[in-house]
Amino acid sequence: MKSITIALSGNPNSGKTTIFNNLTGANQKVGNWPGVTVEKKEGKARHKDYDINIVDLPGTYSLTPFSAEEIAARDFILTGDPDVVVNIIDASNLERSLYLAMQVAELGRPVVFVLNMADVARSRGISIDAEQICALLNIPVVFTVGNKNQGTDILLDTAINEAVFASKNKKRRGIKYSQEIEKCIESVVHEIEARNLALPETPVRWNAVKLLEGDRIITGEFENEPHLLEVVGKCRNRIEDLFQEDPEMVLTDDRYGFIAGIVKEAVSISNKKRIDISRDIDLVLTNRILGFPIFIFFIWAMFQITFSLGAYPMEWIDSGLSILTRFLDSAIAPSYFKDLLLDGVLAGIGSVAIFLPNILILFFCIALFEDTGYMARAAFLMDRVMHLVGLHGKSFIPMLMGFGCNVPAVMATRTLENKKDRILTALLTPFMSCSARLPVYVILAGTFFPQNPGTIIFLLYFTGIIVAVISGKLLRSTALKGEDAPFVMELPPYRAPMLKSLLIHMWDRSKMFLKKMGGVILVGSIIIWTLSYFPKDIDYSKDYSAGIRQLKIEKEKAGTLSETEEINERIYRLSKEKKTERVAKSYIGRIGKTIEPFFDPLGIEWRSSVALITGLVAKEIVISTMGVLYGVENQNANALESALKSSGMTPLSALSLMVFVLLYIPCTATIIAIWKETSGRWALFNLFYTTAVAWGLSFLVYQSGRLIGFG
Ligand code: GDP
Ligand code: MG
Repeated sequence: MKSITIALSGNPNSGKTTIFNNLTGANQKVGNWPGVTVEKKEGKARHKDYDINIVDLPGTYSLTPFSAEEIAARDFILTGDPDVVVNIIDASNLERSLYLAMQVAELGRPVVFVLNMADVARSRGISIDAEQICALLNIPVVFTVGNKNQGTDILLDTAINEAVFASKNKKRRGIKYSQEIEKCIESVVHEIEARNLALPETPVRWNAVKLLEGDRIITGEFENEPHLLEVVGKCRNRIEDLFQEDPEMVLTDDRYGFIAGIVKEAVSISNKKRIDISRDIDLVLTNRILGFPIFIFFIWAMFQITFSLGAYPMEWIDSGLSILTRFLDSAIAPSYFKDLLLDGVLAGIGSVAIFLPNILILFFCIALFEDTGYMARAAFLMDRVMHLVGLHGKSFIPMLMGFGCNVPAVMATRTLENKKDRILTALLTPFMSCSARLPVYVILAGTFFPQNPGTIIFLLYFTGIIVAVISGKLLRSTALKGEDAPFVMELPPYRAPMLKSLLIHMWDRSKMFLKKMGGVILVGSIIIWTLSYFPKDIDYSKDYSAGIRQLKIEKEKAGTLSETEEINERIYRLSKEKKTERVAKSYIGRIGKTIEPFFDPLGIEWRSSVALITGLVAKEIVISTMGVLYGVENQNANALESALKSSGMTPLSALSLMVFVLLYIPCTATIIAIWKETSGRWALFNLFYTTAVAWGLSFLVYQSGRLIGFG
């Protein structure tokens, strides 16, 4: 067993004690440095075939002998005979740390530089080229993360190697001073060497530098060498004359200059630049006056792109689906299975799949905001607005996502630290009108407010936000009372987005939407179809079949083309009438009639009521249910519009219906997400609360509309 001694030096808070503990474990003893009340810790470690004695030096910023700590540290390195000095450097604070490190190196012992806090440096975008430092100084450099015990083995390997194999007088490239000072050092070195005066175990050059600095301890050691002190005195005067400054200050400046050079060589400045550029961008984007309008513009642009760009793939999917429907229609013989497949599965999934492009684009935009770093700025800007609700800017991110789909939005509340904030945000997010509700608005507003559907839709979104604000205030002052604790919004530097990670982010969230479509919506569509398809044997109010048969006979006899067309039209109307009565008498129709009284004061009749109930599965289903119930053949928006118009629905009841769709219980998947992120009780609360709010506001809209004679 061979034995070596390692001294650990470093700035306070560089992680020295942490590394000392990593190296020694419980194997420590604590005492005092001789003569002073500075704590001295020693410990033992074993690595490969070495017994290692480790001494934790006091943390200091320099080795100028001003404080007891500095003296103790320097004395131990000089006279305690450590085989190697391991100097711990805070890598996130390289420049300051190197000041001490370079002084340690100047003492001439074998040294290892440890770049600790490597994780912090990395997270701040500081990248340090260890090999470059090593090459510049001829000192081995290793990285560690002290609090994770990373790099400890490499540290020991390197330290042993340096202690055992490096000659103690290995040629280091130490600090180079300015020319005049180097000249002075040279003449003092010459004087010391000529008479072999150097203090034991110390490099000659170091003696000279300390004398020139006027280090009182070292100068004291030479008090019996008046000739040397005279040479030193002359040099000091020269330096003072030249620089008009105390020699110690001049030497310190030179050291910092040298260190700045190392940092420039070894630290990548591209990150620094990035931070500077970020600051410039922020001058505009988070500007007190410009910031908000720019933010509103981005949000507006996001929705614009989502819906205008999304319209193209929407059409492709639409025509693709109708081609598929027509193909299956002609390819499959009539059966229950066929009806289920076409009217249930395909129609249900299709009415949702159509919105996939919108969802993808919206989530792409949100990923873009997040990846570039703009989302943090948006949260920062929204901070003041969010305080209206008793939340802070961070809650804005889930809420914004809520416009896409509430499910990932509720899940995103996880990033909030405070539990009450999390609950409140999760409860308010469903008032952000998700994209599933949009088709309902598009069709109803398009049908009943053809002059200005856009304004109506905008007002609905806005109503959702207002309801969220009021609800937030209400909950904050009751069940979720709490302080909105001040916090620091982190503003990471802007980054150029990478397409791959944008796509991954987009996909991660869209996946939730697709899962919902594949599972919940599929099952929901099948159930609704079944309920509207059965019972099979219905007592019709008149014999439609006979009527249709009769018309067909008439058609064969018809002479002119216009006569044939007229009969065709009558057949179509009669079969539609039959279908409507079918649905009214089906199970779902009966359910609708039962719940009608609940919706009656809102001006919502039974078919829409059923659609609302089925919308609990997923709000996308509202439209497809309406399609089934209003007797529309394929899921064609135009057909549904005319069916709605002829159904007796008025603009006012349509408005009431839209308000209800906006506010009532979010879909099952969202309720489950709220449950998972908060608790069953809060999920249940949300169920009742949203229904009450929806009913109340729809009632207000419908009844006050009637009062003023609208619709
Ligand atoms: P000393 O003053 O040099 O003895 O520093 P300590 O060992 O007491 O460490 C100061 C703090 O920094 C402690 O909270 C450590 O957990 C932490 N720390 C030490 N090394 C690292 C590191 O590599 N990364 C990070 N993030 N923290 C560290
Ligand atoms: Mg310590």
